[in-house]
Amino acid sequence: MLDDAGLQALREAARLSPDNLPLRRHLAEQLLTKGYLADAEAEFRAALLLAPKDPDISAGLAEAFVRQSAHGAALSALEPFLASPGYPPRMGVLAARALLGEGDFGRAAYRYHEAISRDASVADPELAARLTTPVAPSVPAAPAQPATSPADASSGAEVERSKVTFADVAGMDAVKEALRVKLLLPLQQPELFAAYGKRAGGGVLMYGPPGAGKTHLARAAAGELGAAFVNVGLSDILDMYVGSSERNLRATFDLARRNRPCVLFFDEVDALAARRSDMRQAHTRQLVNQFLAELDGVDQDANEGVLVLAATNAPWYIDVAFRRPGRFDQLVFVPPPDTSARAAILRLLCRDKPLAEMDFDAVARVTDHFVGADLKGVVDRAVEVKLQQSISAGRPIPMNTHDLLAVAQNSRPTAVREWLATARNYVLHANESGAWDELMPWIKGKW
Ligand code: ADP
Repeated sequence: MLDDAGLQALREAARLSPDNLPLRRHLAEQLLTKGYLADAEAEFRAALLLAPKDPDISAGLAEAFVRQSAHGAALSALEPFLASPGYPPRMGVLAARALLGEGDFGRAAYRYHEAISRDASVADPELAARLTTPVAPSVPAAPAQPATSPADASSGAEVERSKVTFADVAGMDAVKEALRVKLLLPLQQPELFAAYGKRAGGGVLMYGPPGAGKTHLARAAAGELGAAFVNVGLSDILDMYVGSSERNLRATFDLARRNRPCVLFFDEVDALAARRSDMRQAHTRQLVNQFLAELDGVDQDANEGVLVLAATNAPWYIDVAFRRPGRFDQLVFVPPPDTSARAAILRLLCRDKPLAEMDFDAVARVTDHFVGADLKGVVDRAVEVKLQQSISAGRPIPMNTHDLLAVAQNSRPTAVREWLATARNYVLHANESGAWDELMPWIKGKW
């Protein structure tokens, strides 16, 4: 390690030669090692401008963030990498630290174990110890229902009644139609389906870039159907203790079965349904097997009225066994919104706000590559600005086109381009079965 004089010389050299990438990288790493975290952060940022997307520099930046407890910023720096397979294991460990910092125990544990199963040398015993410390269970002190089995109590998922319906989902007509045929019609017109000897059943796997509206669609499908909605996140299932994740999964399915008709929605399902061939650890394989068993049900009526929806940003990770009939036998691509879908999303997001004149089409035109979640961010920020102005003026000032344009022009879309680039790598030469047909025009198009 350099002494401070050495560090000073290095800083000076970098100042004189600002475009020298190896030098800047070295300086950034030294600053990080010596604990000058804010300086390290600045240097890693400068190095990233010279080499955008460099994994080592991004990992360095993320570490600088984590060590300053800027967990959200660390995750943003890591996210583009974590979506691709084989990302550097060091990044998985950093993500685990950041996730734990945000209190997301389940995902932290998943990331950590995934990373060290690929490269044991990145193990961090101190982090591992924090991940094994049992967290206080979020179970009510007194059992609410005496009939509930103990296993039930350990599942974190809850039953919701969804107020949103397809009317609240702008655009996406093809996706809504696919869900309608697969989920809604069999329940609404059972006689028709019975006449053709078809049973309702089987699940739908939605895939697409993050923030494109998969969760929103699942919730809307439940509302459309008047069904209960159970939204299952990774942290509801994944648990460090051997066997606990399987129990959580079973409890979650049982919860849905007791509340039929029910839409049971698994977000980030690739973590629960990963290809078994990719797994080194037997206990993760067991979880996949348990998931398959729950989808099949003990008998053919077990999942009657339970509509299983799942979402993933990384469908290529999913074990093909999940795509067999009766399981996630339908793949639906949830695309990034085109210009008219963006206008429709903006219109929906603004519908309860005080508006002056508003040209949604104009805003849609300057928000290329923005997904629903990005557009929501734009509207939320514009509303904040307007609220501030209204408070200063002492009267409500309605929002206009210019307000949205101003925020939109200063915002960057999140991850659509990166996602499509990743998708292209996976599916371009692997579409023999036609599974990715819907995606093909997008990845062959210009982005
Ligand atoms: P994903 O699950 O694909 O990551 P989400 O469903 O969480 O994305 O979408 C984020 C937010 O964006 C939603 O809560 C919703 O407010 C908004 N949104 C996304 N798509 C739409 C849409 N088609 N219509 C209206 N709002 C949308």
